[in-house]
Amino acid sequence: MNVEDLGKEELLHVLDRVSNGEKLEDVLTTLIPVKIQVLAYRAHIMLCPHTEHNEEGCTYYIDETNPNKWRLESHSFWADYIQYLMESCKANEENISNAFTWLGDALLNLERYDPITKAVALEIIESFAANRSLPQ
Ligand SMILES: [Zn+2]
Repeated sequence: MNVEDLGKEELLHVLDRVSNGEKLEDVLTTLIPVKIQVLAYRAHIMLCPHTEHNEEGCTYYIDETNPNKWRLESHSFWADYIQYLMESCKANEENISNAFTWLGDALLNLERYDPITKAVALEIIESFAANRSLPQ
């Protein structure tokens, strides 16, 4: 990622880390492009298998205020997942966004069905997301 691609908030974050002694090149390689961040946020909302969003469950929302959140497992998993989808499907950000819109529509449609059908559909999605391993 290049300095000229950064938004104001990201630029401040980079300046803060560089002023704390980190090398600019190292900081830039850890940055996640904003489009990927947005897709990672959507992926978490739809696919997070945890029912508890606290210290014992998923810490995504707790970590949200941490300036280094994209280096934490709660956030990096989803950013890696988006990058995995883009590479394995040869997809761009718009393709991924469209796929999430479709999935969101499908989940909304699920409200028309009985509780057991809903539970089965959600179990399929959750178990799939939870068991998915990312390429190393
Ligand atoms: Zn979560």
